[in-house]
Amino acid sequence: MPEERTQHSEDSKGRTGPEELRGSVATFDRVEEGATAIATLSTTNHEVFESRVRDRSHVCLACGQASVHRFLYRKNGCDILRCEQCGLGRAETMGFDPESYYTSDYFSGKRPDGYADYIGTENILRREFAGTVEFIRKFRASGRLLDVGCAYGFFLHEAKRFFDVSGIELAEDAAEHCRRSGLNVFTGQADETLLGRLGTTDVIVLLDVIEHLPSPRDTIALLVNHLDPGGIIVITTGDFGSLYSRVAGAHWRLMTPPQHLWFFSQASMQAMATSLGLEVEHLDHPWKVVPLSLISFQLTRMSGLRSKRIAISNRLGLPVNLFDAMRVVLRKPSR
Ligand SMILES: [Zn+2]
Repeated sequence: MPEERTQHSEDSKGRTGPEELRGSVATFDRVEEGATAIATLSTTNHEVFESRVRDRSHVCLACGQASVHRFLYRKNGCDILRCEQCGLGRAETMGFDPESYYTSDYFSGKRPDGYADYIGTENILRREFAGTVEFIRKFRASGRLLDVGCAYGFFLHEAKRFFDVSGIELAEDAAEHCRRSGLNVFTGQADETLLGRLGTTDVIVLLDVIEHLPSPRDTIALLVNHLDPGGIIVITTGDFGSLYSRVAGAHWRLMTPPQHLWFFSQASMQAMATSLGLEVEHLDHPWKVVPLSLISFQLTRMSGLRSKRIAISNRLGLPVNLFDAMRVVLRKPSR
């Protein structure tokens, strides 16, 4: 499995320095001098060399630099690269279509990288979201709130106790579920047309959504235009610079392309926010109550076992903190 080998190379060598690259190139030069010398090209050096060849230059959407993006490994058929300037990770996908991906299957355990049973865990999720609403109210106590990627509306139901809420959701089934429960939710992507119909707002939340967006910088820039001065954008996403992410590499629980396309670090989040005229008002790694059924689902997936689904109550939750997910509050300065 090439993915395993690349991962091994990355783990055992850490971030291989330029001198090792020079070593590989030198070895390669010797190969050109005589055909028999090819035997001296060790597997490890070959991997480092191959890896360097797969580095490429991109204009980073977070830091805005045309920078070297280091090839880290392949996962689910996608190359995972990291900006050398700010640490933003990106998945290079071929022909991924979000609209055909985020269907009800995604939320009901029919996709290995989706949710085990999103609706079944409503109680736990809502308790968790109630905590998020309390957190948000420290920065903005009331006003209009927009949830981008609101899924089945569980967060909106908690938020509507204090805010005038609306949502945007790509999955038609989920959006319809929201509307049936009386929420003001639009089906589609957060584009100019949809946002134009919604008007401006005081609080915008993207809970575990930014890493799914085809072009997060463009989306956040659009959202900033629809945010009133003094308003906030609240984002939760993985932390690609976290210890767990670095140690686990391709096996990190949030390394699930093409579902996840972007892997922010604290520095890349800061860089993107600043370049869009936003202030980072808060950044932390919160504790989270996670449904036991989801933990079991993810462990089964990561271990590669195809065990029968064990019946674990959806009502049980466990406080978890791997310090590999961050919560950020960005403020649009008041004029
Ligand atoms: Zn960057």
